[in-house]
Amino acid sequence: MNEEEFYEEVAARLDHLEGVPTGALFDLVTDRGACMWVAVGADEPDWTGDDATDRELAARICAGCPVRDECLELEFRTAGFATLGVWGALAEDDRRAAYLAWLLRREGGQR
Ligand code: SF4
Repeated sequence: MNEEEFYEEVAARLDHLEGVPTGALFDLVTDRGACMWVAVGADEPDWTGDDATDRELAARICAGCPVRDECLELEFRTAGFATLGVWGALAEDDRRAAYLAWLLRREGGQR
């Protein structure tokens, strides 16, 4: 699978969440997200700014998180291209590329 196919697959995986209200997504992610300790704990991981390293870190933090898709859907709706950090198991560059694929599916690329 090439990168473009990967991003399209990520976007397609979120189709079932299109009708879920943003507030419900927010509640789910904040209640059940595996990383919520990161925002409040002293053990926050060191983001390096290096894509490969941050991707590895994201994969470790998000592995097994029960709300990865909801997290990504929420991030696309609320941050879009302005996204920073790691959400939904994707680092910034991957998420921006997946966001484009998501936009095309949802709004024909209009936004
Ligand atoms: S997918 Fe990752 S960033 Fe999103 S809530 Fe889960 S652990 Fe946190």
